[in-house]
Amino acid sequence: MFLNVSAIHGPNRYFVEGAKEDSVETQRAALRYVDEALGPLFEAMRKRARPAYCLAFSDHGTAYGEDGYQGHRLAHDVVWTVPYREFLV
Ligand SMILES: [Zn+2]
Repeated sequence: MFLNVSAIHGPNRYFVEGAKEDSVETQRAALRYVDEALGPLFEAMRKRARPAYCLAFSDHGTAYGEDGYQGHRLAHDVVWTVPYREFLV
């Protein structure tokens, strides 16, 4: 199964009521939303007879003001640093 979670990708300001632009706060709110949705999915996968090998990663990081930069269409360590995790469910 391939699951593309677009919620944490910009724009993510919709996850904080009244937010006018993306920020660390809105991205964290999007992550909380995704975390809540993944729980039931992983629980269903645990009921399978065989474990599932999962890879979880982003396509890039996002700058929220680091060194004056915003977004992900730029060359910066925070954009090149991609979260990655692998595990069995
Ligand atoms: Zn992207």
